[in-house]
Amino acid sequence: MDFDGVYTDPTGEGEACSRNFRNKIISLQLREENLDTEEKVDSWLGELRARQASFPFEFGWRSEGKVSAFTFEDPFIRNIGLADYLDHLAKSGDPRARKVLGRLSSVEKIKTFGELSEWSFHQLNLRKEPDPQAKKWVLDAIARGHEVFIVSNSATQKIEEFLEQCTFPEDRRPKVRGGARKFGLGMKPRLLKVGHYGGKDVSVDTDRPLYEQALLEIEPDAVIGDVFCLDLALPIRLKREKRLNFAGGIFYRHRDYTPSPMLDLVSGRSTSVPEVTVLRDWEQLTL
Ligand SMILES: [Mg+2]
Repeated sequence: MDFDGVYTDPTGEGEACSRNFRNKIISLQLREENLDTEEKVDSWLGELRARQASFPFEFGWRSEGKVSAFTFEDPFIRNIGLADYLDHLAKSGDPRARKVLGRLSSVEKIKTFGELSEWSFHQLNLRKEPDPQAKKWVLDAIARGHEVFIVSNSATQKIEEFLEQCTFPEDRRPKVRGGARKFGLGMKPRLLKVGHYGGKDVSVDTDRPLYEQALLEIEPDAVIGDVFCLDLALPIRLKREKRLNFAGGIFYRHRDYTPSPMLDLVSGRSTSVPEVTVLRDWEQLTL
C-alpha cells in the first residue's frame, strides 16, 4: 500500500503547500507585473492551472528530466506540476514567469519554480489525519493474518510516528518501507500505454528500479495506491511479465482529487489497463 492518499487525505496539506507557494510570490511585491496583491497572484496562478487542465499529461513531477507523475494526480503533485509548467514558461520567455523567477533568485536565492515548490512542501507542519475506513480495513486484514506493507516516498520515521499517534496497536501495525523513491526513473524507459487523450497517446514510464526492487522483495498479492503513475503502472507491467501475479488485485484508490481524465483512461470501457480496479469504498476489498 501507498501511504499519503491511502492512509490519509492529503488535500489539506496540498492546499497549505499551494498557499506557501503563492504567499512567497506575493511577498515579492511585483507591482509592475501586476502581481502585488493576493487577488492578482491568485488570478494569475488560477489562470495557469486552468490552462494546464487542457493538457493534463504534459507536465508534472520530473525525474531524470522526464515526467514521472502527472500534474493533477494528487494534491502535492498539483503544486509540483504547476511549478514545472512555470519553469517551462520562464524558459520559453514568458515575461511574468521570468520576472518572478528573477526576483525569487535575487531576493530568496531560489532559482527555479521547482525549488520554490520544494520549499513550500518543507514548510508544512500539518498533522496528518487518518482515514478511518483505511485504518479499520488494515487492522482487520492484519487480524485475519495478512501482512501489510506501506511502501511510500515519505520518510519511514514520519510514517511510524503517524501509526503510533493514530493508535495502531503494536501487534497490528503495517510494516513500513519509507523513502521508496517510487518517482525515481531509471535510464531504460519502459513505457506502459494507458490510452489516448487530446489526440496523443498517454504512456507512463515503468522503469522505477527502487520500487521494482521493493515489490519483488515483498511479493505482494495486491497493491493499493492513489497515484496511478507512481503506485500502479509498474505493478501492471510486472503482472504482464508474470513476475508477480497480484492475484488479489491492483487497486486505484479513488479520491475527490483523482483526475477525471486519468480515471476515464483507467476505467473506461476501452481501457488499455484492464488489470486495474477503481477502489471507491474499502468494503469492495474482500481479500
Ligand atoms: Mg499517494
